[in-house]
Amino acid sequence: MSETIAHDQSVVTDLRRLAERAGDELESASATEVLRWAVEQFGSDWCVTSSMEDAVLAHLASRVLPGVDVVFLDTGYHFAETLGMRDAVDAVLPVSVRTVLPLRTVAEQDAQFGPRLHERAPGACCALRKVEPLRRVLTEYRAWASGLRRADSARRARIKVVEWDAKHGMVKLNPIAAWTDEDVEAYIAEHGLLVNPLLSEGYGSIGCAPCTRRLLPGEHARAGRWAGTPKTECGLHG
Ligand code: SF4
Repeated sequence: MSETIAHDQSVVTDLRRLAERAGDELESASATEVLRWAVEQFGSDWCVTSSMEDAVLAHLASRVLPGVDVVFLDTGYHFAETLGMRDAVDAVLPVSVRTVLPLRTVAEQDAQFGPRLHERAPGACCALRKVEPLRRVLTEYRAWASGLRRADSARRARIKVVEWDAKHGMVKLNPIAAWTDEDVEAYIAEHGLLVNPLLSEGYGSIGCAPCTRRLLPGEHARAGRWAGTPKTECGLHG
């Protein structure tokens, strides 16, 4: 084993221990305290990711680190409202929105794999248009913050406010993991934050247009994502 590899592995081990310890110690901390911890540990060497459903996490992060990078994965399949939301967040909040593109345009993907890959193989489409771009951009940071919440789904019920992201080899922050839907609504109202207009048009969760439909009465907020398929996540979160 070379010295460089051994050094890299010890850095990774230290970061993993840091994340695991913080996950326990900050369990009861507020979202702002979790984000302040990120600034103490990593300075500006971390980013927020946003699907542009709302501006809650971007707003929280901008208050502890004005100018914080907010990563938006532009799959080429977003609703116009989502792109408008991205532009509005960039204009209104003290953040730096980074739009990250897949390696192929939709036309190039269609030419290589056939049209509407999202219908035939949504896992492959997400891998090309979301997972790879996220992996690429995260190599520039030591930590990232997502807006995942335990209330989102059973699969997300055990996420910690700080955890080790083995997939990307870095620290992951879920500052609003414990927030309820009511907490989110209250924060938006208190700060007059931007919200994706599709949320008031029958959508419960906003993803790519071909894979997102309006909710039927009584459905869970994420039921409109990849409806009619077994797929429930895009693969960004482990
Ligand atoms: S959500 Fe649908 S369109 Fe978007 S990347 Fe995944 S499969 Fe493709």
